[in-house]
Amino acid sequence: MRKKILAANWKMNLNFARAMALVDAVIHGLDDSLNTEVVFAPPFVYLHEVLLHVQRHSNLSLAAQNCSEHSGGAFTGEISASMLGSIGVDYVIVGHSERRIQFHESDDVLAEKVNRAIENFLIPIFCCGETSSDRDSGKHLAIVQSQLEKGLFHLPADKIRECIIAYEPVWAIGTGVNAQPEQVQEMHAAIRKILSDKFSAEIASAVPVIYGGSISAANCASIFACADVDGGLVGGASLKAQDFLDIIQLLEESIA
Ligand code: PEP
Repeated sequence: MRKKILAANWKMNLNFARAMALVDAVIHGLDDSLNTEVVFAPPFVYLHEVLLHVQRHSNLSLAAQNCSEHSGGAFTGEISASMLGSIGVDYVIVGHSERRIQFHESDDVLAEKVNRAIENFLIPIFCCGETSSDRDSGKHLAIVQSQLEKGLFHLPADKIRECIIAYEPVWAIGTGVNAQPEQVQEMHAAIRKILSDKFSAEIASAVPVIYGGSISAANCASIFACADVDGGLVGGASLKAQDFLDIIQLLEESIA
C-alpha cells in the first residue's frame, strides 16, 4: 500500500511564537498510532526549531517550501538543497504554482531544483496543476502532462520512485473552491497513466499522488476516498491546529 501523506504548507505566515505554538498544538493532538506521515513545511527561518519539535515522532517530517536550482555559491538570499539536507529536512516542495506564477519559475528551473533535491537526498513534492482557463478550454490534462514531462521525466526510474506528486489546480489554491472528487480522481488516474506509459505500471502504482487546493475538514473526506488520492497538501487549513488535526483524522479514517 502507498504511504499516506498530509503536508502543511504554512507559506509566508505566522511569527515565530505562533509557529511554535501551532506545531506543539498539532503534536499534542495527534494519536500515538498514526498511519499518515504528517509533514510540516514552515518558512525557512523556522525549519530548525520545528525540527527539534518533530524529530522525536516517527511519523512527523519536515519540508522546505522551496530550494535553489544552484548547488551553492554567490546567490545572495538563496537556500540550497544541501543546506536543507544538512539540518535534517526530509522533503522540499518544488513547482508550487505561487512560485511558478509569482516568481516566474520555468519548467527548466524546476527540473534543476528536482535534481538538486534528489542529489541531496531530499524528496521532492512536485506540484502540478492547471489554471481555470486551461480547464475551461479542456487543456487541463495536457498541461499537467507537460509539467510532469518537463519537470520530472528526465529522472531515471529509481529516482522518480522517490518523488511525491501534488496535483494542485491553480484555481483551487487559496480560493475556498476545492476541486470536486470526480475531477481529482480523473486527474490522479491520468497522472498514474502518464507515469505508467513513461516508466512502468509498478512505478505508477508506487508513487504517492496527493491533492491540494482549499482542502478543509468539511470537504476532504470525499477527496481522500478517491482511489488514486494518497493524501493532501494543505495551505490555509494547516494554520489552525484543530482544523489540521481534523483533516489528519479524516485521512486516517480513509485508510481504515
Ligand atoms: C497550497 O498552497 O498548496 C494550498 C493547497 O493552499 P490552500 O489549502 O490554502 O488552498
